[in-house]
Amino acid sequence: MILILLGAPGAGKGTQAQRLEDAHGLIQLSTGDMLRAAVKAETEVGLKAKEVMNKGQLVSDDIMVGIISERLDQSDCKNGVILDGFPRTEAQAEALDQLLNDKGLSLNAVIEMKTDDAVLVERITGRYTCAKCGAGYHDSFLKPAVEGVCDKCGGTEFTRRSDDKAETVKSRLEAYHNQTAPLLPYYKDKGILKQVDGMAEIDEVTHQIEAVIKQI
Ligand code: ADP
Ligand code: ADP
Ligand code: ZN
Repeated sequence: MILILLGAPGAGKGTQAQRLEDAHGLIQLSTGDMLRAAVKAETEVGLKAKEVMNKGQLVSDDIMVGIISERLDQSDCKNGVILDGFPRTEAQAEALDQLLNDKGLSLNAVIEMKTDDAVLVERITGRYTCAKCGAGYHDSFLKPAVEGVCDKCGGTEFTRRSDDKAETVKSRLEAYHNQTAPLLPYYKDKGILKQVDGMAEIDEVTHQIEAVIKQI
């Protein structure tokens, strides 16, 4: 199964992708996580991406398509993947169609997580992750059961992203509306676009996504 979660920054893609991994044995392919790992490791891609990401702009299509194509070839992806944060431009969507075709694969569904921009600043500025296992949390909306201790792995160190500041959210939202939102009609025309209410509570969003998956 190949799913795309499509939504604005902060819409809840990563949160839901982590749940789908656990529930369906799928692999979450987050291009944002891959880029952050490359930045940390100071690879060639990381050095190119760092500044662009901190400005809230998009990394070049060539780099992104290369990263995702290589990742899809790894054996752990054979049971299926959730694409989280890719594609983000029409050029990436077209390249994805081509490369899935070449690999004998196809998209099962593109799930739009619909949100109002007004809630996204609070979601993004309150976001943090477990440094050990990557589980995502929120200062108000998704706290660990025991304060300061990760529910999943018991880790006690957490990190915040350097681009999760109110100043960068504006350019990230602009990038979403200008460059990514045109993918909605692109996938609608192919008959694979589904929608869920990204404004609902986290469990309710999961429920709506599960309902979509049952139909495929
Ligand atoms: P994305 O991957 O789309 O950028 P995340 O899944 O990281 O978004 O969610 C952004 C932040 O908002 C996280 O801190 C997460 O815990 C929180 N969050 C996710 N979904 C919801 C929701 N439906 N309601 C409230 N907060 C949410
Ligand atoms: P968010 O959770 O806010 O949606 P991501 O973690 O997906 O953000 O991405 C963080 C940053 O990494 C983006 O602002 C962008 O600079 C870069 N990035 C991630 N995925 C892509 C992509 N498919 N194309 C271009 N840039 C990307
Ligand atoms: Zn953890």
